[in-house]
Amino acid sequence: MLSRRGTLLVSLITLLLFANSAWAASACVDLFKPHPVVIAMAEAKALEEKFVITQRAYRQGLLGRSQFERDLAASGGKLTRLFATRGLTVEFREEGFEILPQGSHSLAKVASHLNSNNIRLMYAPHLLPEGMQAAYSVKESDLSRTLYIDLETIIHGRIGVVGAHELRHVYNDLRANERAGAYERLFQTHLFADKTASKKLPEIEGPYQTNFSLDEIIAYRLSAALLLRDLMRQPSDNFAKNNLIVHGEQLRMFVNSGLATLKVLLSEVQNSRFTFTIRGVPGAETAKVQVEIVKAGLLKNLFSTRRQDKNLVGLIARLDVLRTEVPSVPTPDNMRLLLSTKIGQMIVELEALQKPAHSFFEATQSLAGKHVSEAQIVDIDEALGRLSRAIAARRMSHNNQTTPTAQNGNDEVFL
Ligand SMILES: [Zn+2]
Repeated sequence: MLSRRGTLLVSLITLLLFANSAWAASACVDLFKPHPVVIAMAEAKALEEKFVITQRAYRQGLLGRSQFERDLAASGGKLTRLFATRGLTVEFREEGFEILPQGSHSLAKVASHLNSNNIRLMYAPHLLPEGMQAAYSVKESDLSRTLYIDLETIIHGRIGVVGAHELRHVYNDLRANERAGAYERLFQTHLFADKTASKKLPEIEGPYQTNFSLDEIIAYRLSAALLLRDLMRQPSDNFAKNNLIVHGEQLRMFVNSGLATLKVLLSEVQNSRFTFTIRGVPGAETAKVQVEIVKAGLLKNLFSTRRQDKNLVGLIARLDVLRTEVPSVPTPDNMRLLLSTKIGQMIVELEALQKPAHSFFEATQSLAGKHVSEAQIVDIDEALGRLSRAIAARRMSHNNQTTPTAQNGNDEVFL
């Protein structure tokens, strides 16, 4: 949904269940007298629904402008006041609620940190399609950045799995824009199949099949670790269990799909069947290079009949590269060299993660049964540990060639 609104980079986390286990636990404090958080959450959910319905009705032309403004102001005002009772200050606009770096709420600190990096923190329920709770996006038109946070985080005042996942994307994006963030920069590679015949990337199903950023692999590794921590504390936590299964499946698909797509892309680039555009990222040392697979000429087609047709004509990949790496006068020839190098490096990185990602997937598959045993948890923990160590080792080999900067201090904030 966000990409249709002109968003360049969208990172979403899909969660199977809406209920948060921590929330459910607090409901048991006193069955006859619901905890204030539970009451606030129920109220907020109802207002959120109203807000989304009003926005949808206006977009569909079912609501006149003045009625829309009145309805939106009513539910928006109530939500704003409700957030204030949780210690959060927001600025309400038609596009949503901007979270301000004021007050005692834990998100105020996050907002302050993000704002200092030119990133807005927003709560915009109508932008998030069903089942997607939070997102990090970079706008196509001006490359401005926004982190969309979920309602649960606002009401609970605690960054949960969803928020931590998105903050990892933010951190990786910031790192990628520094010279020293070579590893994170490679994983900013974003694949789009919208213009291909099947409108689908190879070897991936579900919400990410038309496009995804390889950064999902790093962010999913983090949210998997947090879910596993929850499951270790509480083996009956179905939210953690079901989402770990999803994380295993997603991680396997991201690696497989990324590899299959990039191998085709590399071959097409090497055979000069591509077009490219370059855009500088404002205030950053990087540029975004967009490459698209184009149809081969008639003559080339005749000579390449033995080449297996993977039908990826129209595939777009966006890569982050240092400005200094971009040739001063870009030509198809020198760009073919740069792109081949970058795509080749990315393939090496994905190959290094394929085996541990697959064994993590296999370990999480065992969770499909009703009862979760300690042995299963140990298996998953070991598999995830191998994946984490593989990522850490590869990151070190890329990033330790340059002097670390102050950005490293953000590790704590961004987990
Ligand atoms: Zn994500």
